[in-house]
Amino acid sequence: MIASKTGTTATTSLIAQNLSRVLSNIHNIAPPNHTPLTPTLIAVGKTKPANLLMECYQNQQRHFGENYVQELIDKSKVLPSDIHWHFIGHLQSNKVKSICQIPNLYMVQTVDRQKIAKALNSAMSELESRKLKVLVQVNTSGEDSKSGCPPEETVALCKYVIDQCPFLELCGLMTIGDLTNSKSTEDYNPDFEKLVSLKGTVCQELALDQNQFHLSMGMSSDYELAIRYGATLVRVGSTIFGEREYHK
Ligand SMILES: *Cc1c(COP(=O)(O)O)cnc(C)c1O
Repeated sequence: MIASKTGTTATTSLIAQNLSRVLSNIHNIAPPNHTPLTPTLIAVGKTKPANLLMECYQNQQRHFGENYVQELIDKSKVLPSDIHWHFIGHLQSNKVKSICQIPNLYMVQTVDRQKIAKALNSAMSELESRKLKVLVQVNTSGEDSKSGCPPEETVALCKYVIDQCPFLELCGLMTIGDLTNSKSTEDYNPDFEKLVSLKGTVCQELALDQNQFHLSMGMSSDYELAIRYGATLVRVGSTIFGEREYHK
């Protein structure tokens, strides 16, 4: 028992160090001139226990991301209520209501079709409390396996959210992108480039303020490059919490 307690302490302080390194890396990167928003770190805790997330919280981290609805619900119940939760996983219509009932759900980053936007809007309208921030997720790499709306349908989906979903607030775009691009050591990423270009198109066609429009892109292997491209929300998991183990 003593051994496992020691182990826990060692792990948690390592997490604090990882967090502080990622934050200072983020701080040291100059975003492009056209991106006045300060990049925000979202700590992605999927598959990791709440006590490890708490270690980040104790080091002032407030934005956390989760992929799985049930895991988000469970963690939101035991972790502090001033956490800003981001849902970053694939969302099914039948899960929309339960996710919207989380009082400190901050943003849903994965609106990729009208049906989901409509369901979220309707769930939020029943709560009559606040607007829910959303991002439209784009499949920039065109892989069949990835969710996200096709790039050419992005403007229409954004327009739908703005015009038809009064209980949602469209805040920007999100992409996951091709993992091969993401792991590449080159200073070029076609997914990031595509999302930046789509931001321009969406803001121009829908008369939105580019300076207030978020881009969520970049993960452990490429968050620094993403910020150089103009990411305002970076989603970092394993670099902070360690590699994930999946039990199948
Ligand atoms: C898991 C996940 C992340 C974090 O990935 P890491 O490589 O562990 O940093 C970011 N975004 C999404 C959508 C994820 O599912």
